[in-house]
Amino acid sequence: MTICMPWHASVLTIFPEMLPGPLAFSLAGRALETGVWRLDCVNIREFALDRHRTVDDEPFGGGAGMVMRPDVVARALDAAVASAPDRPLLYLTPRGRPLCQERVRQLAEGQGVVLLCGRFEGVDQRVVEARALEEVSLGDIVLSGGEPAAIALLDACVRLLPGVMGSAQSVSEESFADGLLEYPQFTRPQDWQGHAVPAELLSGHHARIRAWRKRQAELVTEMRRPDLWVRHLAKQAPDRAAIRPVSAEM
Ligand code: SAH
Repeated sequence: MTICMPWHASVLTIFPEMLPGPLAFSLAGRALETGVWRLDCVNIREFALDRHRTVDDEPFGGGAGMVMRPDVVARALDAAVASAPDRPLLYLTPRGRPLCQERVRQLAEGQGVVLLCGRFEGVDQRVVEARALEEVSLGDIVLSGGEPAAIALLDACVRLLPGVMGSAQSVSEESFADGLLEYPQFTRPQDWQGHAVPAELLSGHHARIRAWRKRQAELVTEMRRPDLWVRHLAKQAPDRAAIRPVSAEM
């Protein structure tokens, strides 16, 4: 019998009650219950040494807000690493590299993650460097804390763990799987408030449906995400990366 270790997430936060939050529901919740993954919440405050359990202090150089102390955060990180080494250490921050599905896929294939959630103005940069934290952003927005970002990251990873999603096809066809956004989806009723479903989808002709969906995926990606589109073109035909836009072919 092979013993399968659960994918192991540790979340370092001063608000451990925020987790599992939405991760207790649906796919992720069921997978948590059945032991596909495991969640440890580490309360950073428990690693403060003073009577008041202080985790933050004023920024050197002045300015608004408080900064999380490197000594307290490092103790919390070191404890999480000691409990299960060989997991990447991520710090959620708007200064990080934007999270992408490719990175999510890599993380889901590993043994788990340690996620550091900032609060206040963030974490002292020295601990980020001393512990070689990978700085990851949820996007060009500023949250009030890292917890919602950690929850989003875990949700994205857990649904990819073996056995969590019903159909492997959903994963291989969804947005970003091939560098494109997904084609639009339609369901019943066939006629809704005078809006019809695209005729191609009713044709029953699989090749035509596939071609239509591919075209729609290309169009929406080109229009909304020129960054993804350019990369997609370069991958398709590296020597013709500057070929004419798909919309010009219409
Ligand atoms: N002063 C910081 C923002 C701090 S927000 C700045 O301007 O960059 C407080 C905490 O919320 C951060 O430490 C981080 O952990 C979290 N956070 C905010 N926005 C985020 C984002 N886009 N992605 C990931 N984490 C974020």
